[in-house]
Amino acid sequence: MKTPIRKINYNAAESSGPATIECEDGTVIEADRIVSTIPLGVLKHGDVEFNPPLPSWKVGPIQRLGYGVLNKVILVYKKPFWDQTRHIFGALRRPENVDSLDQVDYRSQRGRFFQFLDVTATTGLPCLVALMAGDAAVDTETALDDDLVREATEVLRTIFGQSVPPPLEVTVARWAKDRFSRGSYSSSGPSMLPTDYDTMAKPVGNLYFAGEHTIGTHPATVHGAYLSGLRAAGEVLSSLIGDIDIPTPLLVPTESQALKRKLLEEPKDPLGIYEEQVYYHTISQIGERPMPPEKLNVSAYRLYCATNQDAARERCQAGIRPGKRKGKAGPNEVRHMLSKMWKQTSPEEKKPFEDMVAERKAAFVVKLAEYERLAPQWDEQAVSVRAAYISEHPFVQPGMGEDGVAADGNEGRAIKQRRRKHVSYTENRMGVTRA
Ligand SMILES: Cc1cc2nc3c(=O)[nH]c(=O)nc-3n(C[C@H](O)[C@H](O)[C@H](O)COP(=O)(O)OP(=O)(O)OC[C@H]3O[C@@H](n4cnc5c(N)ncnc54)[C@H](O)[C@@H]3O)c2cc1C
Repeated sequence: MKTPIRKINYNAAESSGPATIECEDGTVIEADRIVSTIPLGVLKHGDVEFNPPLPSWKVGPIQRLGYGVLNKVILVYKKPFWDQTRHIFGALRRPENVDSLDQVDYRSQRGRFFQFLDVTATTGLPCLVALMAGDAAVDTETALDDDLVREATEVLRTIFGQSVPPPLEVTVARWAKDRFSRGSYSSSGPSMLPTDYDTMAKPVGNLYFAGEHTIGTHPATVHGAYLSGLRAAGEVLSSLIGDIDIPTPLLVPTESQALKRKLLEEPKDPLGIYEEQVYYHTISQIGERPMPPEKLNVSAYRLYCATNQDAARERCQAGIRPGKRKGKAGPNEVRHMLSKMWKQTSPEEKKPFEDMVAERKAAFVVKLAEYERLAPQWDEQAVSVRAAYISEHPFVQPGMGEDGVAADGNEGRAIKQRRRKHVSYTENRMGVTRA
């Protein structure tokens, strides 16, 4: 987003429908569906307004889950003075009273400059990143940069000696102060429920949720945030086209894989390379061959299912007797429910779906006619462009002259080889190849 958002208007009743995002600069973005990756800290703080307000089952986990602070002090030096064979090293902080066994004496140093990451290889500058955790992270939010640099230098001198110089540059992350995160990442909260992360992930109508706080298996991580994005994208897609059947087995049998690899690895013959040149020349002159329109795989029932997926799921959920079984209705149950609902649907209710099918069929017919008109034209042009290219750049078998005479005097072999293969073009899924 180029500008911060302040309000999300969504449709809580259905998985699609009008939605808008209102930005602070007055921009309004319209959408059918919205995926919110707003950090949990920002949700907790209420910086973004939801219209209608989020339901209580969603507000619950927002309140119950924890959201902590971890800060970083980034120190850039003229040259490294640390052991560069390690990516990470720690510092054991001295307690106020060295001989004390009382926890209180250790508290003031706990979590302060206890770990340093050497990020020289990734930043290209001699650079250490120091971590500030727990109370130290909270202190960092208000501490002065100069004081933090002084303390970091003192700690580093306890490891590497008094010659450690002050850094040339320092950047301090203060995530709790940052209004776009309001903390670092989610954590367990004292009153949280085991289901809270899963509930955070659940959509509300056409408002979907992703982000590190929506994935109970990998919360508080970059990869968790990424995976949650894939999950949300899948949910949006399902709301558009219905649940996707996962093929079994998921991977094609090993034999075919091996064959595919073999074909890919097989060295191309010179004639093949030549034919590719001819083909690329042809498309550079007249463009790609027109493609036939994708086959229509649509029916009123399918469209009805895509639209009523959520309603069917809710009906299934409502039918699960309390205590009988945990979790949500499976795809098969939803499918059965949809078929039942379709049977009960009146002809008037079916009509919009049937109209949509008729509309798509009509569009398909137009596209098919266009394809049937353009494809033969292209084929005809291709034949002459190809012939012109071949006459200007005839195929020469390696080791042969253009006259077809081999270096060893074996006349005519190249020409014969050229003629042995009849060449025409076909399209396959990888692009265009020779047949
Ligand atoms: C100090 C620290 C160290 C970490 N170390 C690790 C680590 O070693 N490994 C690891 O895997 N993870 C680590 N993490 C966690 C990881 O960074 C997060 O889990 C991850 O970045 C979360 O991704 P996200 O997409 O959920 O949220 P974010 O990356 O926070 O993305 C949310 C986006 O929403 C935007 N936003 C917020 N409010 C608004 C608004 N009103 N309008 C428009 N946009 C808005 C924000 O600007 C931001 O771009 C660390 C985090 C911190 C703070």
